[in-house]
Amino acid sequence: MTLAETPNTQNSLNPFLTLNYEPALASLGDDYYDEVAAAEFPQHTLRWRNDALLPKLGLNPQNVQDEDFIIAFSLFQGRKPFLALRYHGYQFGEYNPQLGDGRGFLYGQVRGIDGELYDFGTKGSGRTPYSRGGDGMLTLKGGVREVLAAEALHQLGVRTSRCLTMIETGLSLWRGDEPSPTRSSVMVRMSSSHIRFGTFERLYYLQRPDLIQKLLDHVIEHYYSHLANERDKYALFYAELVKRVAELVAQWMAAGFCHAVLNTDNMAITGESFDYGPYAFIPTYDPYFTAAYFDYYKRYCYSHQPGICQLNLELLQQPLRSVIDKADLEAGLAKFGDYYVAEYRSLMLKKLGFEQLLAPEADELLGLTIQFLQDSQVGYHQFFYEMARTFSSKWRDEPGLVLNPSDVVPTSDKSAIFDNWCILYHKILNNFNPDQMDSIAQTLTYYNPKTVLLRPVIESIWEEIAQEDNWQPFYQLLQTIASRG
Ligand code: AMP
Ligand code: MG
Repeated sequence: MTLAETPNTQNSLNPFLTLNYEPALASLGDDYYDEVAAAEFPQHTLRWRNDALLPKLGLNPQNVQDEDFIIAFSLFQGRKPFLALRYHGYQFGEYNPQLGDGRGFLYGQVRGIDGELYDFGTKGSGRTPYSRGGDGMLTLKGGVREVLAAEALHQLGVRTSRCLTMIETGLSLWRGDEPSPTRSSVMVRMSSSHIRFGTFERLYYLQRPDLIQKLLDHVIEHYYSHLANERDKYALFYAELVKRVAELVAQWMAAGFCHAVLNTDNMAITGESFDYGPYAFIPTYDPYFTAAYFDYYKRYCYSHQPGICQLNLELLQQPLRSVIDKADLEAGLAKFGDYYVAEYRSLMLKKLGFEQLLAPEADELLGLTIQFLQDSQVGYHQFFYEMARTFSSKWRDEPGLVLNPSDVVPTSDKSAIFDNWCILYHKILNNFNPDQMDSIAQTLTYYNPKTVLLRPVIESIWEEIAQEDNWQPFYQLLQTIASRG
């Protein structure tokens, strides 16, 4: 809906303005942020409201009007202060002290009905002291892309932020990487926290161990509260962060997701995935697939992601060293590989149909699967989807019946690896009883949805919006993603 002018709705009835906001970060004092004002926009057209998130806030979607989103999140009435968070970060390997929220701010923090604290963080809400040369705005296409990425990743089991709302704001923006002028939006992200590795790096750069300690206490109190009363809570915090990040990157890898910009300012201290810019899902298993056109040296390519996350965790040790013993940090990080392998293995076996597989052949199957996907360059997602689509209990009877190769790869390209893969898969199925085939079929279907957010899919959605202002394919895609279709 569009609001030409400010409606006369009572703010006291707007559920977003009457939520019980907690000034958790604000209470730390202004060493960590600047108070900022939001931009004023010529247009306010609600394009996305994430009704699935509202119950988590204790709200019934039926009681939340479209106007409520607009008044709160693009007219920005009835709430302040808004906090532009200060941070630095390693960007493509270089330390950059010229960062911070340049086109967004922390709108507020609320406790979900699960008892957890959540941030509402804006993107595209105007200039701040950290905008530097930028306009402080988000393109509509950028908003559409982040909404889609977050929903798709969430459904694929990735621990991710979500988008609460996206509102078109009527400005013409100029961008080097989009046909311009291009349309504008403001997006509100609901995430566990916008405190980044780079938030700590800035305090180290400023030589403020006192502020590092204070921030760390805050992080443990709110996001690692089960550790708060432990004697060695700081070491335990870092050890758990390592585990969370290792599991997160394993989740991306299994989902075939390339984040594209794994700078330390895009790494959340809660180990949650967020900030979806030039990301892409891999079309095929190509270790060097690189999503950002400006990543000239493939630093953040698909297969580098685990190593980069490990490196970012290692870089974080520098600011944490004023609080945590070096030996504890090193012992924490040493477990990264084991956590990563365990999570990746478990997720990939699920994609292959097995909730739990103790068979000694499990690792062999994983290795062979990856080898086949890489050598054949069949569609990564297509391969697993075809397994789910064509699975039959007959596969247990003989290897020749397993995954008819023409379903995934032209018969002429049939390879020895593929034959071996079929033989092994058949052998593993024979570790199960015939009556367990149904549950394998269900596992395959659950973990391998048909719809994948490959670039051509996103582009076709965007073309409909850009050419025809037709939003139906966008909503349809979100619905399909939500139903794991
Ligand atoms: P990102 O690539 O979105 O993680 O942003 C990296 C840095 O650039 C952050 O400090 C952003 O706030 C800033 N930034 C990105 N785009 C803009 C923009 N259009 N206007 C102002 N600052 C921006
Ligand atoms: Mg960022």
